[in-house]
Amino acid sequence: MGRNLANEWNPAPKPQYGRSKKTAKERGRITKEVYDEAAHRAQGRCEWCGWAAGSVDQTGRRWGLEAAHLIRRRNCDETTAQDIAMLCGPSTNTGTCHNKVDYTRDGRQWAANYRQALKKRKG
Ligand SMILES: [Zn+2]
Repeated sequence: MGRNLANEWNPAPKPQYGRSKKTAKERGRITKEVYDEAAHRAQGRCEWCGWAAGSVDQTGRRWGLEAAHLIRRRNCDETTAQDIAMLCGPSTNTGTCHNKVDYTRDGRQWAANYRQALKKRKG
């Protein structure tokens, strides 16, 4: 024991609403700095499949690289470079990595793992 319980006594926890006034859109906003950091990291290649932006895509699906969220926007307070990846897109084309991350279970799993790896690397 020895803890001062008086300081911990909190019979009516404050309601959590108002904790963050940011909207989901604001939390998901990718600033130029964050985008640049991710783009620098990606070096012009899709961070998942390695497709080089601008190279011929035999499937005709990939048009370019896009910043894809690795985490649902409502789960983060702000978007950092570790919360996004440069993936081949557009997200609306089935088969692109951005599409997979946004709409498939495998993609979400990859995104979660990749985000963890990025955060570790960042320290
Ligand atoms: Zn890709």
